[in-house]
Amino acid sequence: MSSPAPPHIVVLGGGSAGWMTACLLHKEWEAHDPRITVVESPAIGIIGVGEGSTPQLKAFFDHLGIDEAEWMEACDATYKLGIRFTGWSEKPAFESYFHPFPGPVDLHSEPGFTRNCALRRRGADVPAHPDDWFLAAKLAEARKSPQPAGTFPFPPSYGYHFDAHKLGGYLREWAVARGIEHKPLKVIEVEISGDGDIAALLCEDDQRIEGDFFIDCSGFASLLAQQKLGARFISFGENLFNDRAVVMPTQHDDPFKPQTESFAMSAGWRWSIPLTTRIGNGYVYSSRHISDEDAETEFRRAIGTEGDNGEARVLSMKVGRVEDSWTRNCLAVGLSQGFIEPLEATALHIVIDTAQQFAHAFAAAGFTPEHRVQFNRSVAERYDGIRDYIVGHYRLNGRSDTEYWCENAGNHSLPETLKDMMTSWFTHKDIGEAVRRIYGAQPAYSSMSWHSLFAGYGCFPPADKLQVLPPQIEAANVDAVQAMLEACAANFPDYGIC
Ligand SMILES: Cc1cc2nc3c(=O)[nH]c(=O)nc-3n(C[C@H](O)[C@H](O)[C@H](O)COP(=O)(O)OP(=O)(O)OC[C@H]3O[C@@H](n4cnc5c(N)ncnc54)[C@H](O)[C@@H]3O)c2cc1C
Repeated sequence: MSSPAPPHIVVLGGGSAGWMTACLLHKEWEAHDPRITVVESPAIGIIGVGEGSTPQLKAFFDHLGIDEAEWMEACDATYKLGIRFTGWSEKPAFESYFHPFPGPVDLHSEPGFTRNCALRRRGADVPAHPDDWFLAAKLAEARKSPQPAGTFPFPPSYGYHFDAHKLGGYLREWAVARGIEHKPLKVIEVEISGDGDIAALLCEDDQRIEGDFFIDCSGFASLLAQQKLGARFISFGENLFNDRAVVMPTQHDDPFKPQTESFAMSAGWRWSIPLTTRIGNGYVYSSRHISDEDAETEFRRAIGTEGDNGEARVLSMKVGRVEDSWTRNCLAVGLSQGFIEPLEATALHIVIDTAQQFAHAFAAAGFTPEHRVQFNRSVAERYDGIRDYIVGHYRLNGRSDTEYWCENAGNHSLPETLKDMMTSWFTHKDIGEAVRRIYGAQPAYSSMSWHSLFAGYGCFPPADKLQVLPPQIEAANVDAVQAMLEACAANFPDYGIC
């Protein structure tokens, strides 16, 4: 018996989420020659921010069989080896740290980092700053490309920075060339059938677009999932205070490092994202702690555009997630599904993850909702795992200069899972074991990332309480690790873009 064919899928929204989901579903089900229609309103447009990724974006393009050099050039993209956090702590020697994407060389250096963190947590005066232990940090600092010479077999994983508008345009062309239908129309109303499912999108010019299954990629509006089907939204506002961003590009002046920079500000943080053609900048802040005007003034001062006539765009952010991403015959993906603020650039990561899991779950059940409950649970767990890690940045911050940072550091309304992680760190538990126990076998963030977070903010006993290690206990030798990383880094060419 032949396997059933997928139903007609209608995607509402042509932002990154809409086109990525359409491309992935097409690829996953290509043996069935699926019918997929994307409806989007050029008049409404896309949010047009979201310029940093995790290594999942590389996996996405590789999966579609799209050549890296081709799409990177089309989207002004650059490499990203990780994120540098600067000014999030005032503790001496911990004012800045790099959160790397993991790579195979880390298997040699990470055990030493973990060991020294464990010793320092117990009060030993041993080196345990994350910057010293990972190849990606060394490569980024030295402005090296993540693509090694052909003879070096251990490339690090990496993500990208890119122009969000160009990425959407590139994927649209790719999709349309493969038979995905594109309807540039505004949806005015949504038709619900007698059984409560979505039947059709009613558009301008009296066009009616029927479908069997609908993907809601309509952005923060969440027209189908939240507005029409009433998917419950769970706010993360108690844990994540930031609800606004002001954004503005600047020109390059210096050669840049292949990293996102995250600088602490008085009521939030500021990103700096290098593309081939410009720098993307944004200040993400809490409107409870600073006005839009003061945020823009502080932002312009920081990026050097105080006397500039160029317009800075202010955006509102709705931080949280829907309880169930898949409701009736509708899947919410992208901002319509939720958003955990951009600190670790995880939004597109979740888009890809959601679309891929859905493609498998739906097809495995013969395009029926049989696996919906497990799917929703899995997506929610992934969201909450990422949320904990992001909330951790704020809770563990080491600043005391503004009410914003003090309130974050004193925030006790934390998810139980994050409390458990923090207790594990401060009571000297094995963090690898804690991550597995709390977040399962496939956690959103690995033990390496959690160690980097705690150690990066200097969550150790105060420097004047640290003691010399007794001779019978051996610490990992950071100098030997540095020498090994230097030797590895010599295999990577300079990243010659500026
Ligand atoms: C300040 C900020 C910074 C961010 N930084 C990052 C980052 O570094 N990395 C990252 O991964 N993500 C980031 N994100 C998230 C990222 O921008 C989004 O996840 C991504 O752009 C996908 O958005 P979307 O496609 O869900 O929504 P949108 O881009 O808003 O697209 C919505 C689509 O729906 C269409 N639409 C809406 N209503 C209708 C209607 N009535 N009829 C027809 N069409 C309609 C619109 O026209 C549009 O095509 C950031 C977000 C913000 C707010």
